[in-house]
Amino acid sequence: MKICVIGTGYVGLVTGACLANLGNEVICVDKDQARISGLKKSVIPFYEPGLKEMVVKNQKANRIAFITDIKEGVKRSEVIFIAVGTPPKESGEADVSAVIEVAKQIAKVIKSDGKAHKKYKVIVNKSTVPVGMGDVVTKILVEQGVPDTNFAVVSNPEFLREGTAVSDFMSPDRIVVGASNSKAFNVITELYRPLNAHIIFTTIKSAELIKYASNSFLATKISFINEIANICEKVGSDVVEVAYGMGLDKRIGREFLNAGIGYGGSCLPKDVSALIHLAKSNGYDPQILISVNRTNEEQRKLIIEKMESVLKTLKGKTIGVLGLSFKPETDDLRDAPSLDIIRELRSRGAKVIAYDPVARAKAKKLLDGVAFGDTAYDAVKKADAVVVTAEWGEFRELDLDKLRSSMKTPIMFDGRNIYNPKRMKEIGFRYFGVGR
Ligand code: NAD
Repeated sequence: MKICVIGTGYVGLVTGACLANLGNEVICVDKDQARISGLKKSVIPFYEPGLKEMVVKNQKANRIAFITDIKEGVKRSEVIFIAVGTPPKESGEADVSAVIEVAKQIAKVIKSDGKAHKKYKVIVNKSTVPVGMGDVVTKILVEQGVPDTNFAVVSNPEFLREGTAVSDFMSPDRIVVGASNSKAFNVITELYRPLNAHIIFTTIKSAELIKYASNSFLATKISFINEIANICEKVGSDVVEVAYGMGLDKRIGREFLNAGIGYGGSCLPKDVSALIHLAKSNGYDPQILISVNRTNEEQRKLIIEKMESVLKTLKGKTIGVLGLSFKPETDDLRDAPSLDIIRELRSRGAKVIAYDPVARAKAKKLLDGVAFGDTAYDAVKKADAVVVTAEWGEFRELDLDKLRSSMKTPIMFDGRNIYNPKRMKEIGFRYFGVGR
């Protein structure tokens, strides 16, 4: 099929590359000229394992192209994906201005092009958008004079995770297609057929809410276990044992029950906030969701309080920070807990030396007055304490004796519970996990 993907971020670029890899002819459009120039030369604008290889392979096969001109992409395509960002506004509401801008551009191209006008096109909203955006996009096209028999708007939310985005896209747990008629649904089903995935057909509004509800549920599991972790600290239980015991119950499940400094990233915090805003603006007060975000925000502060209470003061102390990205295998720093923690450490007078396997270059642009180590060992050299803020695999493999001996005082705050407290004690660390 001929496909156009608008937006070459984590979702758009992965979608474009994977659909090209399935044999489709894909044009990826982005308004960011520098990004497109880079992509033409196979420069991937962010760290995502396996993505570069897939882009290069499909560029060589002439199945994927990168352009800034939306016209060219829209005119020749049967399916047009909108995969632009929907960041949070100050109020928590999703900022859908990029989706609206793109919808207007699509409408203009279809209207102005005689041939394109007559060809049936499916416009797929892959961005995470509030319930009702499908209708908004449809209205924009109809208002531009595009007959509603010539196009359909479909909601196809994306569930990929950064760090495993390519394999998540190629082997999804489910594909959700919200459509108002079976003609559009069948086009999308045909596109995804090679994935052999479970495809569900819902209304557009249900599909839109499935995305927010799913992310909010995952966030709820994290905040729930963090609350249990905080109770564990009061009563002397170990949250890792508690989560394991809970998670073996099939009704609960083990995933997303890892206590720590809370969730971050470009999706969970913003999607919970957007759902709260959506609920409130429709006259409902979502108490659970409000608590989920509040607990998450508190969790970042609690580790600072713990550090201050153990070290007596943070002023003048040198703190090594291991991990900057919001989770392993990505260099995405959007709403990363590490940033809040580092800024708070700095504001309380600590000197910070940070290390991350891939996010250092991006972090340098966001953090003032922070030194960066080339390795984890560099970051803790002569440090008064170390704090682990992301569970990168390489941190699990560190030579902990070497780490301890290069520190001034071997105190570790493990914000992701990646180490065994008993072993850390044997090695000679004063070790503080979360909820243990
Ligand atoms: P991103 O910020 O990484 O990328 C968005 C891209 O869209 C940028 O390259 C930007 O230049 C481009 N863009 C913005 N306006 C444009 C316009 N008018 N024309 C052309 N290009 C334009 O965003 P992302 O992380 O890929 O997220 C995209 C959407 O997918 C969001 O709604 C997000 O919530 C959702 N989502 C993200 C993830 C994730 O893990 N990142 C997972 C599932 C869903």
